[in-house]
Amino acid sequence: MQIEKIIAKTLIHNTAHKTQYHLNPYQGCYHDCKYCNGKAKRFYFHDEFSNNIKVKVNAPELLEQYLRDRGFYPVNRKRKDTLVDFIPSISESAKQNLPNKFILFIGGGICDVYQPAEEVLSVTRKLLQIAYDYSFPIRSLTKNTLVLRDIDLLKKIHKQSFARISLTITLSDQEEQLIFEPRASTTEERFSSVQKLREEGLPAGVYMTPLLPFIGDTSKNIEDLFKRCQETNAEFVVTGGLSLRPGKHKDEIFSVIKEYYPELLEKYKKLYLNDNPNGMPDTFYSHKLNLVDPIKTGYEMSKKYQIPFFEPRYIPEDMLHFNRRVSTVLSRIAFLKSKILQNTLFEAMRIQQDSILLETLKRDLKRMNSKEVRNLPFHNESLPYILEMLERNQCQFLINHKEWDNLFYKGA
Ligand code: SF4
Repeated sequence: MQIEKIIAKTLIHNTAHKTQYHLNPYQGCYHDCKYCNGKAKRFYFHDEFSNNIKVKVNAPELLEQYLRDRGFYPVNRKRKDTLVDFIPSISESAKQNLPNKFILFIGGGICDVYQPAEEVLSVTRKLLQIAYDYSFPIRSLTKNTLVLRDIDLLKKIHKQSFARISLTITLSDQEEQLIFEPRASTTEERFSSVQKLREEGLPAGVYMTPLLPFIGDTSKNIEDLFKRCQETNAEFVVTGGLSLRPGKHKDEIFSVIKEYYPELLEKYKKLYLNDNPNGMPDTFYSHKLNLVDPIKTGYEMSKKYQIPFFEPRYIPEDMLHFNRRVSTVLSRIAFLKSKILQNTLFEAMRIQQDSILLETLKRDLKRMNSKEVRNLPFHNESLPYILEMLERNQCQFLINHKEWDNLFYKGA
């Protein structure tokens, strides 16, 4: 493996949610998972995604600059410890005008921030330290036990705001796991990490994604993984299928299937024949080949093992609490309608859009009357739910679908 240190111009990417920003201090990932989205053409930074790892060594400075440019300051750092030798003296009234804090998602699905290079360079740890200094909440997702190195810092962050690390775990059989995730920590090591994080009082869930068609989506694999989630006290589970973007992403997994599962190659080719730009499998063949629906199956398993089937949403103290509560309710309705009840996707999409809008709305819904709320740009699909929350502080739809919804987060 070659590690190349680079001075980057950017580090932080906003997401559709606007209350969460992604930070990718690495380009490329040594773990070399065969289904990795980072290998898709649009994310392909160089030919050797898994062997030539670029490290943004100035990532901590970029993050600190980004936060300072927005008026934040390191509340937990003694003056003598600051990288910059000035801290703007902010008056109480100016503090009121600071923008809302947002979640720093360290790592963003196209690199693992605990891959082996991190052991030597500690860039992720430095980013966590800055999150702590500036009192920002964090999330991350990894396949490497190296995350346990940072438990001390994660606990400090969680104590003052919020820190959640989730582990991606997709295959219970070690031989299969080594084929598809050859350099990540083993499945058992990852479950041990979940257990350790939970024992230390930290939120930590499991992303069972992607469940590979005909390999990872078998009932045995899913059930084995759920059992371990229960035993290790995973906070929640999220399941999902495989998307395969045309190009190198698809070529690589097809060549692995050809080598290890030649009998499945034709099925894979048919499933991804459509070359969907987002990599979604062809629905015609999904039905024809009886492809398991990873979300429905995961949901059934969640019921059986009584594990929440949704990543609980963190609601920061300094955000408009009622807005976030309604936003969470809308998001749960959208999920139920699209994935479980299979209502029209269009309806669910509009409700989800309004959930996002509410996250960033500066006005407090609770202080508005129904006429003012109707004048906001909400879709007709969401408005009745929003008004009901405003008037009765409850959602009859979720109550009616309690059987499905009771596995969701109760903290909203
Ligand atoms: S750990 Fe994540 S980023 Fe790294 S190769 Fe695997 S899927 Fe890609």
